[in-house]
Amino acid sequence: MQAMKPREWSQAQMVRMGFLSRRQYGNFIDGAECEPASGAYLPVVDPATEMTIGQAPDSARADVDAAVHAAQRAFEGAAWSRMRPSERERLLYRLAMLIEEHADELSALETLQSGKLNALARAIDVGAGAEFVRYMAGWATKLEGQTLQNSIAMPPGSRWFTYTQREPVGVVGAIVPWNFPLAIALWKVAPALAAGCTVVLKPSEETPLTALRLAELAMEAGFPPGVLNVVCGRGATAGAALAEHAGLGKISFTGSTPVGRAIGHAAVERMTRFTLELGGKSPMVVLPDADPEEAAAGAAAGIFFHQGQVCTASSRILVHRSLLQRVTRALGEAASSLRIGSGFDPQAQLGPLVSKRHLERVLAHVEAAKDEGAAVVAGGSRALEGGCFMQPTVFADVHPGMRIVREEVFGPVVVVMPFDTEDEAVRMANDTPYGLAASVWSRDLATVHRIVPCLKAGTVWVNAHNVLDNNLPFGGVKGSGMGRDLGRSAVEACTELKSVCMFV
Ligand code: NAD
Repeated sequence: MQAMKPREWSQAQMVRMGFLSRRQYGNFIDGAECEPASGAYLPVVDPATEMTIGQAPDSARADVDAAVHAAQRAFEGAAWSRMRPSERERLLYRLAMLIEEHADELSALETLQSGKLNALARAIDVGAGAEFVRYMAGWATKLEGQTLQNSIAMPPGSRWFTYTQREPVGVVGAIVPWNFPLAIALWKVAPALAAGCTVVLKPSEETPLTALRLAELAMEAGFPPGVLNVVCGRGATAGAALAEHAGLGKISFTGSTPVGRAIGHAAVERMTRFTLELGGKSPMVVLPDADPEEAAAGAAAGIFFHQGQVCTASSRILVHRSLLQRVTRALGEAASSLRIGSGFDPQAQLGPLVSKRHLERVLAHVEAAKDEGAAVVAGGSRALEGGCFMQPTVFADVHPGMRIVREEVFGPVVVVMPFDTEDEAVRMANDTPYGLAASVWSRDLATVHRIVPCLKAGTVWVNAHNVLDNNLPFGGVKGSGMGRDLGRSAVEACTELKSVCMFV
């Protein structure tokens, strides 16, 4: 393992990123920054250095109320509901442009608050995020209903005209996690705004800074006050208050399965529409004709990308027994060769985990796996001194009942398991409470086409893993959630379908 010490922050870097001049943030409600009602704040910590880089509101129900009411006023008021779709489209384009113009600042904030590699923050949270806003901008002017045939027979000889139209659901509550703070916030915000909804966004308490900056950029782009509001705070307080709020038309959540389940219950209680993007334990199936080195490289990229803090991470590698040794060895070597360091270090390939709490959670999973008898092929402990760094870890000799095989770790930890037949591979792949994604590695088209429909997952990749496109719906089945982000389905999920039946 080539480990690199995280760099010390220089005064100049801190000044450039604006952190010495502005350390305490407010919520963003009705077009303005405001203090939380309680006056309480939570620290935002850089996991590479464990330095506190800012304070964000520890909001309570009163702040959520204020944000939802502002969003309701903006939705119902003239400014937003009478705006032409092409004007919403123009504003979203302008927001995408501003996100790109602020790429340095936003990606630095992202690396500071989450530890992620700066290149990744730039490419995904900022780059892909802005591209997604542009993609969604186009939908603002393209939502449509249908004219439908009808067979209404009463009164005899009468004529009826029947059609459907899509209408915005109202205020969308969006609760997002810390792994791709800006990108996932945009996954929620952009379709809602394109559909004509207003938004209250609750970022993770670990990573609130880019969401707050996004709200400021939306004002600069020309969105009316109250159209995008951001309330920071803890899940159990601010998050729960938003999820339960009677003023929402829809709640859109990305996060863990237990929290998603609770949010789904609260939504059904009020008959609020909901989308839940939850956890995963995604299998990668390596068939006997696959190239073992290529598959191992794919597995390494699939699990170690962003320290494994990716809902679709390839955390279970299922390999045909004939390739088991070669794939396991190559994956172990790939893990051991990764350079660990601060997200601002251009040489680093693996940054810190998001927080000390999360590092401890991941280490507990690793220790439980060792206790249950799993064999460590690579890694297995924390890395570097100081900071929340974890060695990329590969386990072999695991069996299906082990926690490390069944539970989502959300860290750079992977298990390799053999199979003998295609049926067994499918059975093992589906033997999980989750169903977010899966990948199949083979050049044999007939086999691939046979296996793809058998995999219970929202997305299946072939000879790839973790590849998304703005136009491809994304979401899970089983414990991985309900509904879809991205694509046309995301914007349509922010609308209600109204049937109109006209006597002519
Ligand atoms: P988390 O569920 O702990 O938190 C997610 C968000 O929900 C945060 O903003 C948090 O403050 C809030 N929250 C927590 N408790 C709440 C409650 N009782 N009521 C309302 N809100 C509450 O998840 P996390 O640790 O931030 O993120 C990791 C999880 O997210 C993993 O399980 C991962 O698989 C999942 N995830 C899924 C996707 C996807 O698209 N399917 C994408 C990224 C992450």
